[in-house]
Amino acid sequence: MIGPWCFIDHFGPSEQTEGMQVAAHPHIGLQTVTWLFAGEIEHRDSVGTVQTIRPGQLNLMNAGNGISHSEKSEANGQPLHFMQLWLALPEGSRNTLGDFEHVAALPRRDLGAATLTILAGNLLGSHAPTTIYSPLAAAELQFSYEGQVSFVVNPAFEHGVVLAQGVARINGVGLSPGDLFYFPTDSAEITIDASADAILLVIGGEPFAEKIVMWWNFIARTHDEIQDARASWNARTERFGYFEDNLGPWIPAPNMPNVILQPR
Ligand code: MN
Repeated sequence: MIGPWCFIDHFGPSEQTEGMQVAAHPHIGLQTVTWLFAGEIEHRDSVGTVQTIRPGQLNLMNAGNGISHSEKSEANGQPLHFMQLWLALPEGSRNTLGDFEHVAALPRRDLGAATLTILAGNLLGSHAPTTIYSPLAAAELQFSYEGQVSFVVNPAFEHGVVLAQGVARINGVGLSPGDLFYFPTDSAEITIDASADAILLVIGGEPFAEKIVMWWNFIARTHDEIQDARASWNARTERFGYFEDNLGPWIPAPNMPNVILQPR
């Protein structure tokens, strides 16, 4: 984990010949943070949301104690490129009703070779309106010409910088798309050299104080909580709600491993 950030799915860039379809599936104990670089995705969920997301906008789904959703992009020949990240909810905020937030207006800062868009928390004195539940920050860094940028960060946070496209160099280390560079706490500044087409995500947060159990689409604290969530979903109880889409059958949870899952 980096702060509360516990998962990054980097999709594409793809020519999207078949589109992307993820049928109804559940979550607990986390927020999904979806950020597009190209294309569009339609999100539907059990709290009644139908929301198309496009580049420059943030989709934020709070699973709380249980939510379900589906995601779809059309096979329209347009490229699709995005990251979806998960944030572990702290103990005091995880047993809540789920909800959804679409944030279309986010603060931007011109850093010369790159534009910094603040997705959550505070960076360089700019504050994103995104609802968060523990001390954290996130930003996109989009280069427009080859060069170097530096920005100060909260030294109480640990940080990660992940490259989405282009090439970049941090502290003498070359990055390819998908690589993540880690900054431990007490780092006061991040400096990045990158190509004109480079896009990076910066994520940071206070080191997460709790151990978690993460299995399939669930984040909990104990094996039993995971087992309960799995059983509720596969029995299609009210816990995860219901919604309509045209993506076909819901995705059942797989069998659990024949061991007791341990928090870590
Ligand atoms: Mn999901």
